[in-house]
Amino acid sequence: MSVSAGFVIPHAATPSIPVAGEGKAFPVRRIWCVGRNYLDHIRELGNDERQPPFFFAKHADMITPDGAMIPYPSLTKDFQHEVELVVALKSGGHAIAAGHALDHVYGYGVGIDLTRRDLQTAARKKEQPWEIGKSFDLSAPCSALRPASEIGHPTHGRIWLSVNGVERQTGDLSQMIWNVGEIISKLSQQVSVRAGDIIMTGTPAGVAALEPGDKVDCGIDGIATLKIEVSKPAEQ
Ligand code: MN
Repeated sequence: MSVSAGFVIPHAATPSIPVAGEGKAFPVRRIWCVGRNYLDHIRELGNDERQPPFFFAKHADMITPDGAMIPYPSLTKDFQHEVELVVALKSGGHAIAAGHALDHVYGYGVGIDLTRRDLQTAARKKEQPWEIGKSFDLSAPCSALRPASEIGHPTHGRIWLSVNGVERQTGDLSQMIWNVGEIISKLSQQVSVRAGDIIMTGTPAGVAALEPGDKVDCGIDGIATLKIEVSKPAEQ
């Protein structure tokens, strides 16, 4: 990295996600994640079904490309996968009406909200923020995006994840409690959303632990597939 004009230290490149069939990439500004959006996953973690969903964030440079080798992360003994529909915004605003929210969507992909579940659970019990469990290096693998101009705005389709060829998670986009328009609308009441924001929209049931050596495949039928591999912890 070089020190470019106007900055006193080297500044990082803009994180980005490839777009399928395009020479150009989608630049990532922010990553938001929906806390709870599939009933069966809320039930498997013993959470309150009546609560509205809520949002937490990962940093843009935690985006990790398809095919990545991801070292088992530090501090955890329960590193889990959550396969999710990814929504990428081409524009935004504040307090967007749900009925107009899809106009702001550039496209869709599939991602994994990688989670240090033991640390997330401990933080929740202590009423501390979730960052230690959710926001860490390489915690947001994401497929290439498919533009909505090609595939429309999917409301159903199988979402699945397998580890070493064995299916762990399966569900359907039609099971989402809050749809994409409602999610964008709700998030935009909390904070302005802008071009470059992506939203990971919650996971179906079947979340479970990963170990070094695991090969993970996931996808959403009609949208995209994604694979990652977990390797040994990085040398300290
Ligand atoms: Mn999640």
